[in-house]
Amino acid sequence: MQISRRGFLFGASALLLPALTRGTFAEPTPHVPDDDCPTGPMPTKDAVCPATADNIEGPFYKSGAPSRATLVTDRDRGERLALVGTVLDTRCRPIKNATLDIWHADARGGYDNDGWGLRGTLITDAKGRFSIRSLVPGRYLNGQRYRPAHIHVKVRAPGRAELTTQLYFDGDPYIEGDPFVVRSLIMAHRREGSTRHASFDFVV
Ligand code: FE
Repeated sequence: MQISRRGFLFGASALLLPALTRGTFAEPTPHVPDDDCPTGPMPTKDAVCPATADNIEGPFYKSGAPSRATLVTDRDRGERLALVGTVLDTRCRPIKNATLDIWHADARGGYDNDGWGLRGTLITDAKGRFSIRSLVPGRYLNGQRYRPAHIHVKVRAPGRAELTTQLYFDGDPYIEGDPFVVRSLIMAHRREGSTRHASFDFVV
């Protein structure tokens, strides 16, 4: 449930004023009818979600990756990554059965160009959601400088142009000055236990 700023302030005032004037919270909080709320959630038909920026494919894509949501194996070294999110259309409606085609480098910055390591395709569920288990990619040299850690993604949804993009990790010192990074593709992330958690919603 969304609460508008005005609605929140009104509710907070109603809660605090009796306490300030009488020094007690004993009075019940007055009921605020929904009609008093000046703004409600934006109707879906008017909602606009900006399309996700595209980004270069790079030289290491291979089509035909196996269908799986866990890209990492027990043999792979590196910090584990849990990446979740939703695929939406530009009206902010979830897209089920969208395909995500993912590939990224290992912890040392190398791609598996012979096999299918750290590559996979998966399908969004009925609510447009996906959940991927992998590892935090390493950086690799591109000419004279390292590219920031990134995850390559292609998103395919029926009736829409294919999106090719990359996701980056907030705080990566190599983001600054990288010629390909787009700000909107930088993910917030947090560590829980031994796993790095990040989320990203694709809009196509
Ligand atoms: Fe790459």
